[in-house]
Amino acid sequence: MRTTRRSVLAAAAAAPLAACARPSGGPDVIVVGAGVFGAWTAEHLRRAGKRVLLVDQMGPANARASSGGESRMTRSAYGRDAIYTRMALASLEEWRRLSQRATLPLFHNAGVLFFFAEMVDYARDSIAVHRELNLPLEQLDHDAMAQRWPQIDFTGVTLGLFEPEFGALMARRGVEETVARFVAQGGEYRLAHATPGPDGHHVLLDGEAARAEAIVYACGPWLPKVFPELLGQRIFVTRQEVAFIAPPDGDERFEPAALPGWADFNGGDLYYGFPNLEGRGFKIARDTHGPDFDPDTGDRRMSEDGAALLRAFADRRFPALAGRPFTEFRVCQYENSSNGDFLIDRHPDLEGAFLLGGGSGHGFKHGPEVGRMMADLVLGRATEPDERFSLATKATVHARTVL
Ligand SMILES: Cc1cc2nc3c(=O)[nH]c(=O)nc-3n(C[C@H](O)[C@H](O)[C@H](O)COP(=O)(O)OP(=O)(O)OC[C@H]3O[C@@H](n4cnc5c(N)ncnc54)[C@H](O)[C@@H]3O)c2cc1C
Repeated sequence: MRTTRRSVLAAAAAAPLAACARPSGGPDVIVVGAGVFGAWTAEHLRRAGKRVLLVDQMGPANARASSGGESRMTRSAYGRDAIYTRMALASLEEWRRLSQRATLPLFHNAGVLFFFAEMVDYARDSIAVHRELNLPLEQLDHDAMAQRWPQIDFTGVTLGLFEPEFGALMARRGVEETVARFVAQGGEYRLAHATPGPDGHHVLLDGEAARAEAIVYACGPWLPKVFPELLGQRIFVTRQEVAFIAPPDGDERFEPAALPGWADFNGGDLYYGFPNLEGRGFKIARDTHGPDFDPDTGDRRMSEDGAALLRAFADRRFPALAGRPFTEFRVCQYENSSNGDFLIDRHPDLEGAFLLGGGSGHGFKHGPEVGRMMADLVLGRATEPDERFSLATKATVHARTVL
């Protein structure tokens, strides 16, 4: 029988914990959460020779997880936040390698176009960082954009930044593939709900105690529930709505060869989306943080107001889509830190326990690098997290600065 991503995961998930454990004992590290952050942490620890058990309550990149969407943008323009530019670049190498080995593509190199009404600090800083790092970034004026992408109405836009090397990651598939590779190379995966144990070396998996040298909690939007006292006021989970629209039949202008991933800064009310990736439809979403959201009980039906906003925006910027039917809606959540920086740190009170999350609506692309950083901390290769990723810098006031 042909081994597929799904069959590897299904076989691994069906194995009871006792069968997963090696004869020489239990795992060295348990990673809780098989979203993009946990999957890549597990993979880097495995590469370092550790025996790793990865667990998830509902499966890798499941429908409720933040990594469970169809596609995620990867880009290196981050204003002055060059740390994320470097991380996106390093991560893209891993995604490309994984994509080359996978049966179906994990990365579509469609390019990414950001556009602005006028020159703003974010654009100016992005240009400076790209120049400093010698990275390709095309600067375009209104007419150049209108000629190159006639399917977009650039009224009111004077500046565009185009990143040719970047594009779209196939999110759910990318995480499944990461976990399948991890399992195929000797890592262990199990479907289980985890509850922190009495100390940092113990965790209850479906009520059964398990021990490891280190336990990484990569629980995404569930982190505030897993550690309510510590993170309940430091991770802000918000409802985010996404829609897909069917392009006109037979119209190639919305295919990835003709249209890049795009983000309209729109005077601070940012909208973004993708071309018709793999026939899924033209993707459109609004980046503004929505209301508070519970990843377990939150209503995942699209709101009428949200659909109307996306419709109005699409009609204005992409006139050929006017009147075209929506093909799909998704409601997902951002798990925001106070300012948008990730959380990659030790638990302050439980020796052996580590905290990983705060993807803040832009974490997916960085999964490989975030996983490497977390693994370095667990392995003692890094003595302290980068200050920006420390728990100490996570405030209790939600005020985003990273975009
Ligand atoms: C609509 C939307 C658009 C986005 N767009 C982009 C984009 O264009 N580019 C980009 O880079 N990023 C984007 N992001 C952000 C990115 O998707 C997230 O930052 C990233 O997926 C977070 O991954 P994670 O592993 O931290 O969390 P998750 O993917 O949520 O994974 C956490 C996992 O932990 C498991 N878990 C939780 N608690 C337990 C427990 N107690 N026991 C066992 N398992 C548990 C869950 O089941 C889940 O699978 C977007 C996010 C959304 C919602």
